[in-house]
Amino acid sequence: MSTEASGSGDASTATTPPMIKAVSADKYFGDLHVLKDINLEVPRGQVVVVLGPSGSGKSTLCRAINRLEPINSGSIEVDGEPLPAEGKALAALRADVGMVFQQFNLFAHKSIVENVTLGPVKVRKISQSEARTTAMELLERVGIADQADKYPAQLSGGQQQRAAIARALAMKPKVMLFDEPTSALDPEMVQEVLDTMTSLADEGMTMVVVTHEMGFARRAAHRVIFMADGEVVEDSTPEDFFSNPKSDRAKDFLGKIL
Ligand code: ADP
Ligand code: MG
Repeated sequence: MSTEASGSGDASTATTPPMIKAVSADKYFGDLHVLKDINLEVPRGQVVVVLGPSGSGKSTLCRAINRLEPINSGSIEVDGEPLPAEGKALAALRADVGMVFQQFNLFAHKSIVENVTLGPVKVRKISQSEARTTAMELLERVGIADQADKYPAQLSGGQQQRAAIARALAMKPKVMLFDEPTSALDPEMVQEVLDTMTSLADEGMTMVVVTHEMGFARRAAHRVIFMADGEVVEDSTPEDFFSNPKSDRAKDFLGKIL
């Protein structure tokens, strides 16, 4: 299966499914309806920034896409395949859909390079030496190769988050989900993580990014989705969204953060 991004121009492109497709997806936590009839198609290579007030369902949407949260009705497909419920297929899905969280979630008792090799060896069945070579290339790419043998607690927050990105990339994901990846960082470390994400976007990675970094949304996003109360309220280009928000909720939101 090709992992190539869009732009190949051959005849098969016309039949290529979107990388992410949600149809009438609903999610409840008890009586709380947190995702309401979500219909969303993300084409290959697209960078989607998801904005919205706290509690609007942004994290739940990300978690639903890699099935950390099963939805109650509707469907979600990644690369044309419905999300598997369990077993090896679910592990493969989680590898295909890389996720980076606000809290870096690195294994504290493993070195940085071990954090990056673990998944590929276990899930992708890559040899230890090949995994290490790839891990070092990725750590080089995110600018922390010199930290490879340290433990997470010895790194700054920005370095840990870049390690978490390298760890997800080591699985050779088809999609990367970022859920407020810079929200827990000291301000001076935000840019280094955004730069890493921007170069990933430039390389054609399909990305869904929940962030409050409007500069990143303006520069790197192809599309902005604004959520409120579990619904997609606006879906437009960054230019349109920022200069001409249509809903009162979006206007109110932008008024508070800009
Ligand atoms: P956001 O990321 O936009 O802040 P979330 O997706 O985290 O929003 O949450 C959406 C809604 O679902 C909120 O009302 C939140 O309190 C609720 N929620 C999230 N996770 C859970 C959970 N595990 N159990 C119960 N309610 C939850
Ligand atoms: Mg959230």
